Amino acid sequence: MCGIVGYIGHRNAYDIVIKGLKLLEYRGYDSAGITLLDNKTYLYKKKGKVSDLEESIKDLPKGGTLGMGHTRWATHGEPNDTNAHPHQSQNGKFIVVHNGIIENYADLKKTLLEKDYSFKSETDTEVFANLLEYFYLQGNMSAEETVRMALSRVVGAYGLVILCADEQDKIITARKGSPLVIGIGQGEYFVASDATPIVEYTKSVIYLNDDDVAVISRDGLQLKTIKSSQSIQPHIQEVDLNIGELDKGGYDHFMLKEIHEQPRSIADTFRGRILPDCSDISLGGLHEVWPKINNARRIIIVACGTSWHAGLVGEYLFEEYARIPVEVEYGSEFRYRNPIIYPDDVVIAISQSGETADTLAAIRIAKAQGALVLGICNVVGSSIPRETHAGVYTHAGPEIGVASTKAFTAQVTILTMMALKLASNRGTISQDKYRMAIKELTIIPEKIERALGSNEYIQYVSEKLKDSTNSIYLGRGYLYPVALEGALKLKEISYIHAEGYPAAEMKHGPIALIDEQMPVVVVATKDSSYEKIVSNIQEVKARKGIIIAIVTEGDTIIKNMAQYVIEVPETAEFLSPILSVIPLQLLSYYIAVMRGSNVDQPRNLAKSVTVE
Ligand code: GLU
Repeated sequence: MCGIVGYIGHRNAYDIVIKGLKLLEYRGYDSAGITLLDNKTYLYKKKGKVSDLEESIKDLPKGGTLGMGHTRWATHGEPNDTNAHPHQSQNGKFIVVHNGIIENYADLKKTLLEKDYSFKSETDTEVFANLLEYFYLQGNMSAEETVRMALSRVVGAYGLVILCADEQDKIITARKGSPLVIGIGQGEYFVASDATPIVEYTKSVIYLNDDDVAVISRDGLQLKTIKSSQSIQPHIQEVDLNIGELDKGGYDHFMLKEIHEQPRSIADTFRGRILPDCSDISLGGLHEVWPKINNARRIIIVACGTSWHAGLVGEYLFEEYARIPVEVEYGSEFRYRNPIIYPDDVVIAISQSGETADTLAAIRIAKAQGALVLGICNVVGSSIPRETHAGVYTHAGPEIGVASTKAFTAQVTILTMMALKLASNRGTISQDKYRMAIKELTIIPEKIERALGSNEYIQYVSEKLKDSTNSIYLGRGYLYPVALEGALKLKEISYIHAEGYPAAEMKHGPIALIDEQMPVVVVATKDSSYEKIVSNIQEVKARKGIIIAIVTEGDTIIKNMAQYVIEVPETAEFLSPILSVIPLQLLSYYIAVMRGSNVDQPRNLAKSVTVE
């Protein structure tokens, strides 16, 4: 996830690109860079925000009417000046900005190293820049032919803007998986990750499709595909968008946008980490530490808030599949209670921001006592990834809504992959079951898309519940952490008191609260404790509670018991948290909107909790 802007025309390219990057900064903001062609090539990049880049080059030349820029959200290589885009090939023939991941970059890099290419950065993008140059110098090809040929060798997701030093009057763009829009002006063209930076200049745009390659010069645009050099007719559309809304991708709030992004953010999180035939999982960040994890005496997961709920799902996953005992701890409790940690313990810290103060303090204690400490974080280069021995990034993209949604499902995706891989390493899962489980994970994005389809019905249910003052959320097994997470979402943004509980524990206390005013949300998809939770629903019904049930598509038993039933597609039990949390996120969102809350910035909360 990052922001890309390109321009070719008659105006000063720098002004357009820098302004556009600022509008796209919500997409990524760990470093920024810009290239301008003005007879010479000017390339400036800087760690930090677009304003840091602007400040650092304020006295340097910025002429020219062709240029491109990038605001990065790092996936490969920490955020620093060198890893920032644009990336130039070894002999300066090609310059590239890229949004996405070149999944087979390691293989391509190996081949290029054998051909004496060297690399300045740790990025997958520089590998692509050098691949272009390698093909270009091989034979008699134009820049466009070179791009199409190189892309036929690339596996992964990309939105690319490419400049070639020998063809200074052109920009080439290509897309697969990552969005790119071309704006058409009078003798000028704009390229951007979304239409925000373009609408000020023109409303005529072309949304590139996957596999499209566009070659743009001042007097025309040619659209082709990676496979074919035949020009195709572009579909030109008129956009009529309010710039302010566009940052939210057309959604009313970042939270809603982020909920709807989950099919993509989960796919991005497992992309490149699962072999194409689903036979194995490869988590590059853990490569060297697997021997120690395989022999762990115990796994301790430390986290706060929503990440702690993800950790609880991790407990079920690791214990069921890898057969290693797990403890899940709040960072704030763990750090102050003089915990017993052994050198053969593995501690996993989970934090979206990578800056959560209590979690950070907890891992320092664990490290000092000799445990192997791993991180699962979303923000690349943040403190936790820097301080842990090893770790895995979630590739959820920037999460702006304070109530975490897509970061939670991405964390659970990573924990699922870690638990399955660990089980395979330890021989506690059969290879057949391992492969089936991986396959099931790869189709989760489609199922989330289907679960999001209940949007309208959830609005109807929200209308009925919006005036409640209390609520109870129940679940069992893998769905107990989901009940906790659903309750937290409701509390955070609608300010309705919500209590998450293991369904069977209800009779030891909370059942006293149930009457005809009390909404009880039960997460009850078909799994190994389905019959048990059906009995718990009966107990609520007998006391006249209002039952809202999350069930598996086609369920008839609970339909006859609950007032409101929200369906999700069937999936394997270990994946049910990722799927069944979706309607709970939507429910809390709509209730909060109907109550007039500030959904993206709820009162008293902050996105990254850097105080203890
Ligand atoms: N994979 C590239 C990198 O890490 C691009 C990331 C992005 O989309 O910002 O540099």
